[in-house]
Amino acid sequence: MKVRVVGNSCTWFAKPNTNFIINDEIILDTPQSSTKFMLPYIDYEKIKYIFITHFHSDHFADLHLVFDWIKCRKNKEKVVVIGPKTLLKRLVILYRVLEHPKFNKKDVVKFFDIVELKGGEELALDGFKVKAVKVEHNVSISFGYIFKFDDCEKYVGFSGDSNMCDGLTEIIEKSDVIFMDTASVEKNKNHLSVNEALDLKKKYKKKKFYNVHQTDFITKNYSKKLNIPECGQLIEF
Ligand SMILES: [Zn+2]
Ligand SMILES: [Zn+2]
Repeated sequence: MKVRVVGNSCTWFAKPNTNFIINDEIILDTPQSSTKFMLPYIDYEKIKYIFITHFHSDHFADLHLVFDWIKCRKNKEKVVVIGPKTLLKRLVILYRVLEHPKFNKKDVVKFFDIVELKGGEELALDGFKVKAVKVEHNVSISFGYIFKFDDCEKYVGFSGDSNMCDGLTEIIEKSDVIFMDTASVEKNKNHLSVNEALDLKKKYKKKKFYNVHQTDFITKNYSKKLNIPECGQLIEF
């Protein structure tokens, strides 16, 4: 399994927002400007799936631009887009707000299969299984995902944005490798804090953690204690 960490930061900093390309076939989250930052790494002809964790702009806002890339590609296979319920409604609103007044749902279904989840579902897809796990992030709905590829023995979890909740615990306990939002210094309702992340690292010694969704402050002050990947880094298991 190959995970390209396209970005590992969050909205207010110069580095790219956190998103991933998995095995060259899956995009996980489409933050604002991610279409620019993915360009050195992505071949849209190969993309089969897009996963969205939640609808904050630093996870969702470029989805319409990713769609525009895919609509222009030679490969006419439909791309499966998986995310929390209300995904399609929000995507249509996004297009209309951005001056595509004639855009409608038919444009989407021609190129994409939209799969809206409520959380807790396990899907068997092409070469892998995935579970959507509901996490707490002070929003209407937010997921993390656990992936298990047929040709890789490891379970790999992505927390999305999450505080220390039951969903995050499930992701950690069921995964061997975890890409985990660690965006806060202080404990709060939106993100995991550095100390919570360090406690988890101590508690689950056999698991490999990557700390993402970083602020510049955390990267500068905690990079020795945390395991913060570089933007653009390719991680293989
Ligand atoms: Zn968020
Ligand atoms: Zn975020």
